[in-house]
Amino acid sequence: MQKRSSEPKASGRVPTADAPLFFLDYDGTLAPIVDDPTEAHPHPDVPALLPELAARHPVWIVTGRDLADVESFFEKAELLDLRLPAIGLHGMKEGVLGAGAESLASEEAVQALARMRRALPPLEGVEVEDKGHAFAVHYRAAPDVDEVLAQLRDWASGMPPTLAAIWGKKVVELRPQGLTKGTAVRRVVDEHPGRVPVYLGDDTTDEDAFEELADEAADGRAVTVRVGGGATAARYRLENPAAVAGYLRQYVEEA
Ligand SMILES: [Mg+2]
Repeated sequence: MQKRSSEPKASGRVPTADAPLFFLDYDGTLAPIVDDPTEAHPHPDVPALLPELAARHPVWIVTGRDLADVESFFEKAELLDLRLPAIGLHGMKEGVLGAGAESLASEEAVQALARMRRALPPLEGVEVEDKGHAFAVHYRAAPDVDEVLAQLRDWASGMPPTLAAIWGKKVVELRPQGLTKGTAVRRVVDEHPGRVPVYLGDDTTDEDAFEELADEAADGRAVTVRVGGGATAARYRLENPAAVAGYLRQYVEEA
């Protein structure tokens, strides 16, 4: 087995797989990052490309958003008829875009989330974003970020083990423990023997999937691609959604 490293070393031309099973993150991968998350429309090449790709290979959409959010972008781009299977809320939901989704969270975790939501202290400049069976606490507008962060850490320390906290850029998200993009991807990969997982993503939570697939990626049985900069467990890297579209186009042109 090859030794893994957490160094940001992902490099080299991204290979194409013969029988790919695609996992495509939405924001930052299929859609350029924009200031207003309600305006995160797919890259201009994607509406023509995705139907071609999905006609040839299984394609899963992966997102940290609730699936209803992505459905609205797919509907505007006239992609909802593809009925693509999808993983939402960083691995907590599974469904088909345009045809419903189910939560994978336990009742115990759902109740613990509600308790933590009620226990959140009132803090100036803090905004809560509800995401179904998860919620995010944004504090970028706080007048004293360090003070608010200290209070949030104190609050999160009372969290039960059924939940996990994900600390991001001026945001902390609480969600059920043990349901990640990695666990979701492993379940789907196991349902597709003979297919090579090809996972493209730009998020911290995509790293769960890159780590899950690291052994396969090391010996060519998976292709893992980090989009954009930052340390990663992915084997390869692409610069942005335009480069992602360029990479995916090869699968359409070769066939
Ligand atoms: Mg993303």
